[in-house]
Amino acid sequence: MGKHWPYVVLAVLVLLAPVAGSWYAARQWSQQAEFDQAHLMALSVMRRSEAVAGQAEAAANRLIASRNPQPCAPANLTLMREIAMGSSQLLAVGYAENDRLLCSSLGLHDPPIPLGPPRYVNSLGLELRTALRLPLTPGLTRVVGVRKNTAVVLAPELITDLYADKPDIVVGVSTGTGLQIAGRGAFSPRWRNRLGKASSVSFIDGGSVISLQRSSRFDLITYVAVPVQHIATRANALFANLLPVALLIGAFSSAAVLWRGRAQRELPAVIRSALHHDEFFLTYQPIVELATGRWVGAEALIRWQRPDGSMVRPDVFIPVAEDNGLISLLSCRVLELLAKDAPEILARRPAFRFSVNLSQHDLTDPQTIDHLRRLLGTGLKPGNLTIEATERGVMEKEAATDILRQIRVLGMRVAIDDFGTGYANLAYLQNFEVDAIKIDKAFVDTIGTRAVTAQVALLIIEMGKALSLDLVAEGVETAGQADFLRDNGVRYAQGWLYARAMPAGELATRLAGPVT
Ligand code: C2E
Ligand code: CA
Ligand code: CA
Repeated sequence: MGKHWPYVVLAVLVLLAPVAGSWYAARQWSQQAEFDQAHLMALSVMRRSEAVAGQAEAAANRLIASRNPQPCAPANLTLMREIAMGSSQLLAVGYAENDRLLCSSLGLHDPPIPLGPPRYVNSLGLELRTALRLPLTPGLTRVVGVRKNTAVVLAPELITDLYADKPDIVVGVSTGTGLQIAGRGAFSPRWRNRLGKASSVSFIDGGSVISLQRSSRFDLITYVAVPVQHIATRANALFANLLPVALLIGAFSSAAVLWRGRAQRELPAVIRSALHHDEFFLTYQPIVELATGRWVGAEALIRWQRPDGSMVRPDVFIPVAEDNGLISLLSCRVLELLAKDAPEILARRPAFRFSVNLSQHDLTDPQTIDHLRRLLGTGLKPGNLTIEATERGVMEKEAATDILRQIRVLGMRVAIDDFGTGYANLAYLQNFEVDAIKIDKAFVDTIGTRAVTAQVALLIIEMGKALSLDLVAEGVETAGQADFLRDNGVRYAQGWLYARAMPAGELATRLAGPVT
């Protein structure tokens, strides 16, 4: 039970992670989508605004060009009507003087219509009057622009009617300085500051996603403000779509974690039963003498095949066996299996050397010596055996020193496995009376590369030579690595370049062959 809860916690996390992930993704995506949409709307408000401004400018230019000394003469009124009727956006064009409209495409205004002072005058001399109430259009407001006495009357509805189907969206157009010309909804002049000198900007301010767009042709800025709730609404809808998938993924992963947890908890019992039902066997990976290519020995590697045919990797069950007090049973089984396999091979090669992996626990357990003695009674000679111990196994326990010494007294050899990956320490190599070191695959892999650790392989080789230890390189996969190792005085190698681990029968057959 003690080992159960980490898996439960992990299972809950794994269940929630896709849910949290899709919630976050839905929010991010929706925010981006609202920004994009606000930007597109501001752009289309700009298209409309520029079309209106373009017509107003063209109309004014035409009237100004007529240069009539009597601006309100009938001929000029006809021209004004022609211009107004010919435009799609302008309500009227006319002539203004001293803030009064004297005449327009609607006729002579007698008395003149007062326009009041302009709210805005720009550098081109354009005067703007916004939200103007004219007697001609009671109850409505109008926008009037005057340049060189030429007046253009516009309807703000040209802008305020945009997106009429979305009443909670603020939309409008302002001058380059941020003075509202026409718009719908609450407009804040301070939004203008966020634009700076840029041509467009989108941001969140006071509960709205706001997008501003500057005109490249006119003194105009358009803006659109969408309530931030739109992001949440969109995100919730998206999340609702993602949730079933996220839950499904989460549930599957969670089940996998729980299943794995259960398997881990049950594994010790399963290992016991596998020992009982003889599901373990050994494979042998040849150890090759680099100078001659001869197979001088082999490392015994344990294999576990379940009744359903599936294989369980030693990386998986060895640690579990170590944690649950089962490793001595397993090591004992390895020695028994070796005792059965060895005679066929020793009959062909009496000096053949078998390497056996012992665990940290075996190295502090006096029974190990008894097991090894029993092995010698089966026909193996001490010289046929090398015990592999990892650096960790040797370093961490005082008692290991004693067992290793006894192993050597029996006449077996001791090799330090995975050398260089543990607490590499020169002193212990002398203290522990070791015969060989196995250079870990990690260092062999760096041979011929530019990796910083590439030098470490050479250091280990030099150290081994200085202490007169046999060197075995592990995991040799290329001829380049083999050449380098041979040239630098490494005597033995093991790796897929030569052979993978194989059953005892195959090893015996191949030892009888020509090459080995
Ligand atoms: P190890 O003792 O370092 O064994 C060498 C591992 O490297 C083996 O994996 C072997 O198949 C693999 N190998 C050999 N040559 C190459 C190569 O050229 N390239 C690559 N990529 N790999 C190569 P395996 O058999 O899966 O064993 C894994 C580990 O399990 C062993 O590492 C050892 O720590 C442990 N183990 C295996 N059998 C026993 C055993 O009987 N008792 C104990 N205590 N541990 C064992
Ligand atoms: Ca080994
Ligand atoms: Ca190793």
